[in-house]
Amino acid sequence: MPIRTDRSDLPRAAGDPRAGWVPDEGSIFGPILIDHLMRQAGPRVPKERRYITPSKALGCARELSFNANGTGGAPMGPSGWFLTSIGKWVHAELEEAVVAHFGAEHVTLEGLIGTKVELDDPVACRRCDGGTEQVGVGDTYVWNCEACDAVWPRAHRIEPEVFEVRGEPVPIVSYTDFHIHTPELNAVGDFKTVGGYKYKLAVGERGAAEGPSRGALIQAGIGALVRGADKVMVVNFARDAISVAVAQRKGMSEMQRFVAEWTVDLDEIRTEVEDEMLRMARINRLWHDEGLVAARRIPGIPVEISSPGNGGWHHTEQVEVDGEMVERVIAAGNAWNCGYCDHQRLCIELGPGRVPMPTDQISEEEE
Ligand code: SF4
Repeated sequence: MPIRTDRSDLPRAAGDPRAGWVPDEGSIFGPILIDHLMRQAGPRVPKERRYITPSKALGCARELSFNANGTGGAPMGPSGWFLTSIGKWVHAELEEAVVAHFGAEHVTLEGLIGTKVELDDPVACRRCDGGTEQVGVGDTYVWNCEACDAVWPRAHRIEPEVFEVRGEPVPIVSYTDFHIHTPELNAVGDFKTVGGYKYKLAVGERGAAEGPSRGALIQAGIGALVRGADKVMVVNFARDAISVAVAQRKGMSEMQRFVAEWTVDLDEIRTEVEDEMLRMARINRLWHDEGLVAARRIPGIPVEISSPGNGGWHHTEQVEVDGEMVERVIAAGNAWNCGYCDHQRLCIELGPGRVPMPTDQISEEEE
């Protein structure tokens, strides 16, 4: 029965959502956590790369050029530190359990594609920039900071592994998250921690399942190709679980509310994997051989990005109207990539097409 008497004059409980309950303006714990994460990671040193990095698969061509010439981008914001750290925590927690499950002889975690070469020159402390000295540990040594007493593992650089694709050399440096090599399964794959909305799209909570990001699949495919695996896997962990009600309605298991796995035959995607390795290698060479950064081309978009400020592009064609040739827009859109791009400002400054770059923007460091 509806309530007939108006009781809106009665006092409301504190925190009534209708009154709004905004969070504190500042934050105590946010800065504590982010400062801690930044200190742990140490400063990021941009470096020139004469190899491809599969984690950039299907990325913007110009971004790949910046990756090749070591142009530092805008620093990562607090939310970026937080979100990327969640992925690292999941990895760290999984490692021991995965090895215990498969046995160390049947699984390789964080497998390096490339060769570690130890460096004997002292390194600057990553925490305080102080000088370091060698301290013996067993049959090797670590670097110990004389100023703040931090200890760093012995410094190294990584020599790329050169893989041949259709007769073209493709130098690669990468880590594959996991390589399972049991008698039944020979699979290379990557763990990806994704936002709740992206996860919903991937598993089909909003219509047909879209699957994992294509870039993640190609990244894992490159690892599988190089390691000689025949299966490619992508594992998505959701940062927010699908609700119980929706999972029941969609017939999803309890596990699928937050974890989804896709396994495909490498042969199904081999051509796409090889195409992408060659594209990345050619963009890398475009910088190192010709001193040019690539045009603003993003795979899947038919034309160059014309407005990197908002990712805008428009595809035109010439059509005849009343005997005159006029330009008509046949497709247009906004690429999401630009909004998340560390090099957006520089990209705008450099202009469209393949272009040279002022040398003062380029890092001298080389791995
Ligand atoms: S701003 Fe857009 S077009 Fe420019 S490098 Fe970044 S992703 Fe590519």
